[in-house]
Amino acid sequence: MIHEILPVGMLQCNCSIFGDETSRQAIVIDPGDEIENILAVLTRHGLTVKAIVITHAHIDHIGGAAKLKAATGAPVYMNAKDQELYDGLDMQAAWLGTKPPERTEIEEPARDGDSLTLGDTAFHILHTPGHTQGSISLWIPAENKLVAGDTLFRDSIGRTDLPGGDGREILRSIHAKLMVLPETAVVIPGHGSNTSIGREKARNPFLQGL
Ligand SMILES: [Zn+2]
Repeated sequence: MIHEILPVGMLQCNCSIFGDETSRQAIVIDPGDEIENILAVLTRHGLTVKAIVITHAHIDHIGGAAKLKAATGAPVYMNAKDQELYDGLDMQAAWLGTKPPERTEIEEPARDGDSLTLGDTAFHILHTPGHTQGSISLWIPAENKLVAGDTLFRDSIGRTDLPGGDGREILRSIHAKLMVLPETAVVIPGHGSNTSIGREKARNPFLQGL
């Protein structure tokens, strides 16, 4: 499996590009910005985008979705509980002092328990609310990888002080849905360095003594 992680945009959101070597199909997760660079990676590997998946509707994760969809024709997957946030994209842009990006329709609801496939590899959708109400993580057992969005970071967890955030709920999500995964599982957070479930279980200060 091809997997490239591209930090994009002002807030350096980790965009993940997964590509199947046989079918040459790809899943792009969180195309926040810099769509030209994402398209260059796709072209370099000869990949066709099958699905665009959004972990949550913050502008740094979803800002480039319309542009990537226009370039590839791939459907966009996002949990419906973040639709309201997405509808407020212009307001999010104003908070950051940037120009509002183009919006698009969300075709697929990305519900808890849904899965996507890339070749023979399953991408399971876990609803992990707390950072936002519609936050999802993607668990890819065959790759032993978790794409965690802004739910879990190396030594930290997602902020919960923005609209839709809930401090208790994010901890519940992490314990019930993420800490049950194998300790060796690699975690790709929405920003910053990779980590593992085991490392965060042992060392993440937000997850101790609960
Ligand atoms: Zn976020």
